[in-house]
This record gives sequence, C-alpha cells and structure tokens, in this order.
Amino acid sequence: MRRRGLLTKPQPEQENKLSEQPTDSDQTEDERGGITPDLSFWGVLRHSMTCTCPRCGKGSLYNKRLFDLTLRPVCTSCSLNLAKNDSADGPAVFLIFFLGFLLVPMALIFETVFAPPLWVHAVLWGALAIGITVGTLKPLKSLVIALQYRHRASDWEDNDGSQ
Ligand SMILES: [Zn+2]
Repeated sequence: MRRRGLLTKPQPEQENKLSEQPTDSDQTEDERGGITPDLSFWGVLRHSMTCTCPRCGKGSLYNKRLFDLTLRPVCTSCSLNLAKNDSADGPAVFLIFFLGFLLVPMALIFETVFAPPLWVHAVLWGALAIGITVGTLKPLKSLVIALQYRHRASDWEDNDGSQ
C-alpha cells in the first residue's frame, strides 16, 4: 500500500530493508525465505488469534479438528519447521495456573454470597473450566509459538522443512 502525501521522498522498499536495523519494539525483519514476518505486538496477537504460522501468517498451525493440538510438522505456506519448536505442554501449564487463580476464588465468593447446592458448583465451574480450556488452548499455544519465534530466533535458524 502506498501512503500519499505523507512522505516527501519515497524510498524503494528493498533499500529500506537493507539500511534499517530492527528496533527494540515493533518490526523485526527476517530475511529468511524473503519473508518479512510481522512480529509487532499486534502481529503476534493476530498470529495467536488466527492460529497461523509466526513467519508468514498464512499457514495454519494445526489440523482442522477441534480437540487436536498437534502441530503440523511444517508450515504449509512457507515450510517453516514447526515441529522442532513445539511448545509442548507449556501453554497448558499457563492455563492451569490462570484457571486455578481465576475460578477457585470465584467459586468461593459465589458460595459465600449465594450458597447454592453443590451440583450447581459442579455444573457451573466444570462447564466454565472446560469451555475456557477448549476455547483458549489453541490460541494460547499459538501465542507461545509466536513469542518463541519473536524472542528466540536462534532456535528457528536453519529450520526450514525444505532442507
Ligand atoms: Zn509459514
């Protein structure tokens, strides 16, 4: 896309890539495979929400099945080796801590205020825990993978599936 009227002297895009060094925050450039990944805060968040490859942002990280958290071995779009940098059960541990700290105090407060029968607790908190887990585990795992790609680039070097 072009911005009109904002730049007095437009520069060729290729020259920009060579001359500018990545800054501490927004854009980190990766020349591997000629792809420039969007590793800004919003880029990482978008990769997380859409469960897509952190390098190209196009290939899906998972198969289509709802409960299948197995990563594809390589990105279908850019051949990034995903399996070698699988975050394994790290995201599940984050979620266990988060749900524990969130749901247990809520259940205690709910019991203190409303004193419902025990089956209400079982149904309510059980359904909430399962719903949050199913809804957030894939995006959370995608977030950890995108953060690994952003902050530990050395782990991904020479990792193309097209070796
Ligand atoms: Zn990709």
